[in-house]
Amino acid sequence: MEDYEYVIVGGGLAGVSAVKGIRERDTTGSIFLVGEEKYYPYHRPPLSKELLFGDDTVADIFVEEESFYSDHGVQNKLETRITDVDSDQKVITDEKGVNFHYGKLLLATGGHTKKLDIPGGDLEGLYYYRYLEDYKRLDERLEKSSSAIVIGGGFIGSELAAGLNLNNLDVSIIFPEKYLLQRIFPTELSEVVQEDYESRGIKFANEDLPEKINKHNGKYEVTTKQGNTLRGDLVIVGIGVSPAVDLCEHGDFDVFEGIEVNEYLETSCHEVYAAGDNAYFPFAALEDCVRIEHWDNAIHQGKLAGKNMAGAKEPYNYIPYFYSDLFDFGFEALGEVDTHLNTFIDWQQEKRSGVIYYLSEEGKIRGVLLLGVWGKKGEARKLIRRKECFREEDLSGTIG
Ligand SMILES: Cc1cc2nc3c(=O)[nH]c(=O)nc-3n(C[C@H](O)[C@H](O)[C@H](O)COP(=O)(O)OP(=O)(O)OC[C@H]3O[C@@H](n4cnc5c(N)ncnc54)[C@H](O)[C@@H]3O)c2cc1C
Repeated sequence: MEDYEYVIVGGGLAGVSAVKGIRERDTTGSIFLVGEEKYYPYHRPPLSKELLFGDDTVADIFVEEESFYSDHGVQNKLETRITDVDSDQKVITDEKGVNFHYGKLLLATGGHTKKLDIPGGDLEGLYYYRYLEDYKRLDERLEKSSSAIVIGGGFIGSELAAGLNLNNLDVSIIFPEKYLLQRIFPTELSEVVQEDYESRGIKFANEDLPEKINKHNGKYEVTTKQGNTLRGDLVIVGIGVSPAVDLCEHGDFDVFEGIEVNEYLETSCHEVYAAGDNAYFPFAALEDCVRIEHWDNAIHQGKLAGKNMAGAKEPYNYIPYFYSDLFDFGFEALGEVDTHLNTFIDWQQEKRSGVIYYLSEEGKIRGVLLLGVWGKKGEARKLIRRKECFREEDLSGTIG
């Protein structure tokens, strides 16, 4: 049986970041990186941005060049799904029944796209958009398509609707909330963004849900709960991601909204770690446990998990940020940006740019969204860490 000091399951961003963390402390220990996709780790954000409507090519999105892996003594195995972890024997098994022994194991398996549980939700040609393969398939069909239906009003749906519109497609978007990104944008901001989308010709079927999808003569037809029928050459679904916890079915893994880890990113199974989209972890600055599906978190958690696998024992105290671009509205956000909290908008340019604070009942800053305000993530992090109570009127100009 092949035997490695470090085994990383999941060839995504957290996985490759772990290699860097391991190599900071251990320059020689053997590393095995195994992933289901046929590509070396790549960045997903460009799939709905720079690749779709910018100048990037597929070659630009890889996290590292292929030579990085051999230079760092990494044994890669692509297109291989791991189906079992035996944490007592310290053995993982792939779909062909081949076993690999590990000293330390990282589960960096990310998430699975949620599927529509409606008639036609599994129709051939529908996109549950997450992988480079999805982008490639979409890219092939873009030129031949003139209309698209996007299902989901979160990040992926909002970004894809914008990207497809920029590709001159006639875009409709269906989602159950009243506004786009309603979970994170205060209504005042959602309204502005939605008006911008509408002014560009995007049609909204908001406060609605798809009930059935059919395909006739190559065109899709989505029937909604409100009784609308939308037609398009493409249907792209972005309704969220479930953490990939399949490998935790056997063994003593604690799983709750993700693979539970402690501050060192250790799971409840000895010498097994988890990081990235699949990890449910203690967010020190917020004194709460969360799971985060964002790029910067995958980078920092993956790297720290790697360092800790190599003996560092450092807690994860970082406050990750996430970002998005919706036409001219670009933003970065940190902490808990959720509209169930009280929100206060400090506009710098009315309805174009400003700082949005997300406050607990007592007035502690839980999250900050920087809309068109750049270079201020450090200030936002400091405010979140201060854990002081603020009155809304005192926040004006706090981040300038
Ligand atoms: C279209 C799109 C746009 C995005 N845009 C942004 C953005 O603008 N800003 C932002 O902050 N975040 C964005 N994200 C989210 C960000 O890309 C993710 O948070 C990040 O990729 C998570 O990295 P990860 O390594 O944890 O998981 P993943 O990237 O999902 O990698 C996990 C890998 O593990 C593999 N795997 C899973 N199970 C197994 C198994 N059993 N055996 C072998 N391999 C397995 C998977 O195939 C996958 O390759 C976007 C995501 C998508 C899909």
